[in-house]
Amino acid sequence: MQRAISLQTLYIDFDAFFATVEKQVNPALRGKPVGVIAMESEYSALIAQCYIAKAMGCARQMRVKEARKACPEITLVPARHDVYVDMHHRIIACVERTLPVKKVWSIDEVECDLSGFNEEAAIEVARKIRADLARDIGTEISPSIGLGANQLQAKIGAEMEKPQSFVVLHPRDFPGKLLNVPLGDVPGIAAGNIVRLRRAGINNMADLLAISAKHARAIWGSVEGERLWAQLQGYSIERPETQRSMFGHSRNLSGEWQRPEKALECLRLLTTKAARRVRADGFWSQKLTVSLKDEYKRKYHIERQFPPTRDDFNFQREMTCAYQELMTKNSHRKIRSIYVMLHGLCEQGDVMDDLFTTDESHNKKQKRETLCDVMDKVNSLYGASYLNIGPQPVIPGGYVGGKIAFGRVPTKEDFASLPPQAARKQAAARIAAKD
Ligand SMILES: [Mg+2]
Repeated sequence: MQRAISLQTLYIDFDAFFATVEKQVNPALRGKPVGVIAMESEYSALIAQCYIAKAMGCARQMRVKEARKACPEITLVPARHDVYVDMHHRIIACVERTLPVKKVWSIDEVECDLSGFNEEAAIEVARKIRADLARDIGTEISPSIGLGANQLQAKIGAEMEKPQSFVVLHPRDFPGKLLNVPLGDVPGIAAGNIVRLRRAGINNMADLLAISAKHARAIWGSVEGERLWAQLQGYSIERPETQRSMFGHSRNLSGEWQRPEKALECLRLLTTKAARRVRADGFWSQKLTVSLKDEYKRKYHIERQFPPTRDDFNFQREMTCAYQELMTKNSHRKIRSIYVMLHGLCEQGDVMDDLFTTDESHNKKQKRETLCDVMDKVNSLYGASYLNIGPQPVIPGGYVGGKIAFGRVPTKEDFASLPPQAARKQAAARIAAKD
């Protein structure tokens, strides 16, 4: 492990991303307070707010009523995840005209590698990216940029003077401005860590930098503490790529969708979405968990295990069994939220038919898998909901399976909708011609 002696990482974190994208695509919103809400409802909450709304006291997770009270002139727009994902891809393409993106951390955060650049060139490259973004994407989009010895330091730099940060934390100046960063603002230091740090007599950045790597590991009770400490010191840490362990989708329900039979319809859609992702990434799954929260916010869940599978029929059957079991164990009149997760993932080489599989059942299994593959292919060509097993209810709030979550930027296919009648006919003709 070596300590960097030059700038190694450029990190871009976009300010108030969803709200600024709304302003970028809708000029009527510019210069005004804007909030983005989860869905069109007075019971919804803010998921993002622009800096004007923030200055008026609006904050994330604030209910619509409170947001209007804090800022009566606020314009509230329901989230349009497809628009944000589209903008995300345009932004990456724009950055990559100057510098390759090393890692996409989230919909509005990316990391680029600066090795090979001297300080002057690194700063020039960062300035060019900022100017390109303003020219090609738009001036409402607001990048905060940090340059540092590694990803953590560059990210801290990007956070330091928001909005529109442009902070260089050169290893030569270490610890420099880092000393002013409150421990709670360091990505990776959670509230629980702060309590433990305090107990160990560590109250600020200077204290944390002064301890040993071993001590950091002991405070965290894991290697994470040592990793974080080393990054703060300017060492570069390459983390092993985490193996994907599950595919899950959740949904908050409102109105009639809280009825158990409607919640099951919604679960069916979420299961289909998760199963498509399992197949798209080349996995089989051996476990399924259904969770729900009832009207009193009590949580329940059931996990089921089965031989490795990748077809919708099996997943739907397992999901229905799990759900029915949940419903018989407790009688739920209203369901506030549901969650389905496919896990216990394995790859082709790990899949074995069980001992009692007959040729007939093996063939049937293969046919169902092939059918699912064909459906996925057709759906990727003609829209994500073009071919379905069973009816497709329209869930309020839309974007089933296409919501932006930490660590996963949805693909464009997640948003494709049913094509119009003409496209449908055309598609059918093309499929027939291929046969
Ligand atoms: Mg951001």
